[in-house]
Amino acid sequence: MKKLLKIGLVLSLGLHFTACGNGETEQTITNQSQTIESLEKENKDLNKTVSSLEKSLDSFEKKEKAEVKKEKEQKLAEEKKVKEAEETKKAEEEKQRKQAEEAAEKAEEERIAAEQAEAARKAEEERIAQEAAAAAQQQAAAQAEAEQQAQQAAQPAQGTTVYVTPTGSKYHTHKCGNGSYSPATLEEAQNRGLSPCSKCY
Ligand SMILES: [Zn+2]
Repeated sequence: MKKLLKIGLVLSLGLHFTACGNGETEQTITNQSQTIESLEKENKDLNKTVSSLEKSLDSFEKKEKAEVKKEKEQKLAEEKKVKEAEETKKAEEEKQRKQAEEAAEKAEEERIAAEQAEAARKAEEERIAQEAAAAAQQQAAAQAEAEQQAQQAAQPAQGTTVYVTPTGSKYHTHKCGNGSYSPATLEEAQNRGLSPCSKCY
């Protein structure tokens, strides 16, 4: 707008100098002056309009800035929310993972303890069984020995001298009653089918 004013002034000055001393020129100058006044007024009006537009623009920019800021803040808030939700989810997953791990560890410990208890129980059972077997063996050995001793006591050893008669069915440890007794080995007497005398044995 200032440019227009300058053009007007230059025009009026130019006309003033070129038309000096002429009646018609006087009229022209008056016209030019009026034109300048009109232009100045128009300039003022335009300045007002520009000022008003500038104010509007300023206000608009401010509003836009505020909106952009608000949008940015909202976006940031949303991002924060999403991030927080992700962190919460992650923490929850981690917690669950730890719990599962702990449960597995506990189960493993329990399994090992049960295994150890079972092994101890089996070992004790085996120990008892071995003890019982040893006792049974000892008892059987003692019994066998006792039986052998009894048999040895009941039966005279081979090679022992016994007494027999020519017709009798028994053998004796000595001349048992009347008859013709002769000495013989126990083996010979048994081979003849003789049995021990109930009096002697
Ligand atoms: Zn006899």
